[in-house]
Amino acid sequence: MLHRPSIAFRTTAFVVVVCAILLAIDGWNSWQSRSDHLEQMGVATSNLARAMAQQADDAIKKADTVLVGMVERVEHDGTDQADVARLRKVLATRVAELPQFDGLHIYDKDGNWVANSRPTQPENLNNASREYFVFHRTHEERGPHIGLPVKSRTTGRLLLPISRRINHADGSFAGVALATIHLDFFSRFYESLDIGKAGAVALVHENGTMMTRRPYSDDAPGRNMLGTELFRTYAAQGPVGMAYFKSAVDGVTRLNSFQRLDNYPLFVAAALSKDEILANWWRETLWHSGGVAMLTLIIGFIGWRLVRQLQLQTRTEAELRQARDALETLNKTLNTLAMEDGLTGLANRRQFDMMLDNEFSRAARTASTLALIMMDVDCFKQYNDIYGHAAGDECLQTIGRTIANLASQRPGDLAARYGGEEMAVLLPNTDVKGAVVLAERIRSAVRDLKIEHSGVADGFVTLSAGVDALIPATGKAQSKELIRAADKALYAAKAGGRNRVCSTAQPAPA
Ligand code: GH3
Ligand code: MG
Ligand code: MG
Repeated sequence: MLHRPSIAFRTTAFVVVVCAILLAIDGWNSWQSRSDHLEQMGVATSNLARAMAQQADDAIKKADTVLVGMVERVEHDGTDQADVARLRKVLATRVAELPQFDGLHIYDKDGNWVANSRPTQPENLNNASREYFVFHRTHEERGPHIGLPVKSRTTGRLLLPISRRINHADGSFAGVALATIHLDFFSRFYESLDIGKAGAVALVHENGTMMTRRPYSDDAPGRNMLGTELFRTYAAQGPVGMAYFKSAVDGVTRLNSFQRLDNYPLFVAAALSKDEILANWWRETLWHSGGVAMLTLIIGFIGWRLVRQLQLQTRTEAELRQARDALETLNKTLNTLAMEDGLTGLANRRQFDMMLDNEFSRAARTASTLALIMMDVDCFKQYNDIYGHAAGDECLQTIGRTIANLASQRPGDLAARYGGEEMAVLLPNTDVKGAVVLAERIRSAVRDLKIEHSGVADGFVTLSAGVDALIPATGKAQSKELIRAADKALYAAKAGGRNRVCSTAQPAPA
């Protein structure tokens, strides 16, 4: 049989589902918010990279523009004494115009200083060994060359060299024009950026050399970046890109955005620490997850209390039902005990008296005839004496069953043990004639049982019956009268020789 789940189970399931939905919604929200945070940070780092690339490109472009002019002038005017003096003035003016400039220099084909933006000209300084000088001497390209960071031989400051080749009229190498930019021009700008405590930015040459970075360290400029994740990602993703990885320098995982400069072989990288990006998110998430957890606990607790209450109620109801059932059974038993004769199973005297009164009233109301058969086992004292009391009881039981079978044709009929070995049958809506017929049927049935009785002439147990019937007059208690009349008829039957039926209407045959 399929049972519906109990109310306690359904309530538990409901509470569990509600809590689970609550937690799932909160988890989903938190995850969404995390993605939003990271996405915003992606936008922020790429904006940062764009701004840095723009700044570097502008600064180098300014220097390069000056270089183009210088190269053009030197190639056209040559480098005799008068021109050099004029050139020196021009260089000094140019350098004064731009704060990021360290200096402007012109070298001849052997690396000797021809002109310089500084007020004093260094003597006997040869730059033929510098990387940019070697590059231009060995390369014919006329474009700008971004060199590796160098330490100034005059000031000791770190410089970014930008240079162009100077040619003779025949195209042969005539020297180098060099502009140097203070590397800390970039570092200072990077220090002004809001990148949190663990953020990092860097300016890197496409050949894999670090120019400068924040956080700054003395060994950063010139460091080889070829093997780093940042450089590999840049090499793989191209001029603009974004990636998460662990820094080779400090081991912090960052969101890195990088961008190549528009005009020069450099790229910038801006990186924000993932932990820092997510710190706010963590704080928010902890707060509202705490709230949701609290809510879930409260709902769970209330649910648990409710379920316990329900279980208790269900148990109490079941116990009450059981108690009621037990009481009903007991009542029925008591009722039966109170109304039934223990030996024969017929109605007892109590019930008989009650029914007699009821039927009397009813018969009086409906003006119908009420009949009564009184029966008494013949010579029963003797039967007891001969066969014993137990056999007598058994005999009474058999007779009782026989009477019950015959006197239960209509619903209103009632067979009762009147007392001792006397039985009575109450028959509503029955006249004397009808009652006599039934009495006769009972008498003959008992005789036909052929219960041996050696104390009587016939040899079997018999009974005698007296019958009377009347239409009660309203308001009069005539029940005793009916009994008395039936008794009288019974008496007559006994007197008439037993094993017979007598009625008031039909006295015993002589
Ligand atoms: P009769 O009615 O024919 O005149 O003679 P009787 O021997 O039946 O006379 P009476 O009615 O006076 O005797 C009734 C006897 O029935 C007395 C008693 O021993 C016996 N008796 C009454 N109730 C019971 C009973 O419940 N069990 C047994 N075994 N005997 C009972
Ligand atoms: Mg008797
Ligand atoms: Mg008798």
